[in-house]
Amino acid sequence: MNKKSLSISTQNKLILLGLVVSTILIVGLAVFAITNIQQKISEVYSGFGEILTKTLAIESVEITKNVQEFEKFSTLQAHTHSIINSNNEIAFIEFQDDKNNIIYSSKKEYPNRAQQAKITSSAQMIVNNDGVKTTIGKVTVGLTGGATKDISHATRNSMLVVFTVAWLVFTFVILINTILITRELSMLHHGVKKITTGQFGYTLDDKNTSGEIKDLINAFNNMSLRLHQYEEQNIDQLTLERNKFEAVLMSIVNGVVVCDNYDNVVLVNNAAKKMLEVEDSQILNTKIQMYCDTDGELCFKEKIEQFKDTPLDVMENKPLEFNIEVDSRVIKAVISPMFSSNQEYVGYVIVLIDVTKEVEIDRMKSNFISNVSHELRTPVTVLRTYIDTIYNHSDEFDEQTNKEFFEVINKEAARLQKMVNDILDFSRLESGNVSVEKELTDIVPLIESEIKSMQILAEEKHITFSLIKEPDLPQIPINADSIERALNNLLSNAIKYSPENGRIKVRAEIARDPKYVEVSVEDQGCGISEEHQKKIFERFYRVENDTHTVKGTGLGLHLVKITIEKHHKGEVFVKSKPGEGSTFGFRLPINPPEDTEEAEINN
Ligand code: ADP
Repeated sequence: MNKKSLSISTQNKLILLGLVVSTILIVGLAVFAITNIQQKISEVYSGFGEILTKTLAIESVEITKNVQEFEKFSTLQAHTHSIINSNNEIAFIEFQDDKNNIIYSSKKEYPNRAQQAKITSSAQMIVNNDGVKTTIGKVTVGLTGGATKDISHATRNSMLVVFTVAWLVFTFVILINTILITRELSMLHHGVKKITTGQFGYTLDDKNTSGEIKDLINAFNNMSLRLHQYEEQNIDQLTLERNKFEAVLMSIVNGVVVCDNYDNVVLVNNAAKKMLEVEDSQILNTKIQMYCDTDGELCFKEKIEQFKDTPLDVMENKPLEFNIEVDSRVIKAVISPMFSSNQEYVGYVIVLIDVTKEVEIDRMKSNFISNVSHELRTPVTVLRTYIDTIYNHSDEFDEQTNKEFFEVINKEAARLQKMVNDILDFSRLESGNVSVEKELTDIVPLIESEIKSMQILAEEKHITFSLIKEPDLPQIPINADSIERALNNLLSNAIKYSPENGRIKVRAEIARDPKYVEVSVEDQGCGISEEHQKKIFERFYRVENDTHTVKGTGLGLHLVKITIEKHHKGEVFVKSKPGEGSTFGFRLPINPPEDTEEAEINN
């Protein structure tokens, strides 16, 4: 039991004080009333004694009026006997003559009763003889006071009973009231406690209550239900806000990792989980410094330390950026500090961006520049050497030698031209401002003329061409120049990557989907692995970038893709097996959809 429950509350103290005061008052009242009544009874009794004495005096004068002197004693004795025997209140009666000699006294005959006399009263015995009053003696009556005593007792007892009952009822009512109020108060107290602990909606039972307490309990229940409603509304609102926030966070394509002040991961979105290859359970509530990349390295540790060693305002203006590698993907991480609405530092956010493609393109671009420089230098050097030789020594050579020199110059100039054309086409097509005029064209003659123009190049490696064409191919709406360039790229690649004495099969036929005409170039070259096949049509992409074994810029196939897919609504394809050869080709629609907007090419 605690100290509080032992101590008496002020309210209880007041009730006790009220009880004591009311008890004193009731007792005082009772004493006052009883004393007052007893006094009144005594006064009435005394009055009664006087009246009785006077009556007795008159009666005695009357009954002794005509009686002889010697008979007076017996007459008065007889009268006295009859009175005393009929009334217990009278203790004695005594008659005296005018000289105060006792004529008769009952004291001798009734000594016990005479002793009980409490009040005595005397009255003159007066004889009226024709208006002349003569005192012949006096009567003295002694009264026992028994009636006063009985009445006083009865009155006192009834008063005591009345006041005791009144006091008991009063006390009982007060106690019951107190108990009820205390019970209701403790009920309310219990309810308020529930509310303070957040149990909104808790209601009190108002069954055994009435009046103001019932109103109070109803008001409490209303308040509790209102609070519950507000809470639910608030929770709904908060949940909605949180759901919205989570939905936004979860659908961001960039990864987001939120860490608290102690480096614990408190939030991670889907993109981040995917990039870091983790599940919620593996990363949530763990220290971000403990994250291991696929090589088992703590890739965040050092940078987080650096972030924490740098002043916050510096980090706020210039977030820390670094790259990490997870399973051969390059991910750029940007760490910036996080502040609450009252500008308190609460942790940091790491934004993760998959930059694998950008890094790859950067690498490919620098390779492209090095390739292009390399590619340009070779023909330019060859051209300068040959032209210089002819310029200075042409008369020293026979016609045949001169012709061979010019052939080399021609070939190198053509190579140079192709390369410059590729680069120009690339920048023109990439810019998107190209309108391609199309005409219904018979594609077979176009293929034949391209094969012919490649003949010299093919002969150098003793490569032979064969053209397999389906008869009666329909004419298709194409831009002949750009389709020629696409074919030229496929054919020159086939020659470039074919071994000596190889064979190249060119096919022109109706595709499996008869709405398309399919053109393919099959070689017996080195082939391409599946991994490279996926990327082969991307700009600057080259399989042999690192080795420079075969010259090129990585633009040819990308230009084919743009020409076929963006400008002709067709599709390109490649089938290849390393070491067995490759088949590159495209399908062109016989009835292409109206040129509304050109299809997007993402590479
Ligand atoms: P490049 O100018 O380097 O040849 P392309 O875009 O034409 O550029 O080709 C991209 C890459 O595709 C080349 O680096 C080459 O590795 C590969 N490639 C293209 N055609 C063939 C083929 N017929 N056989 C094998 N590899 C090929």
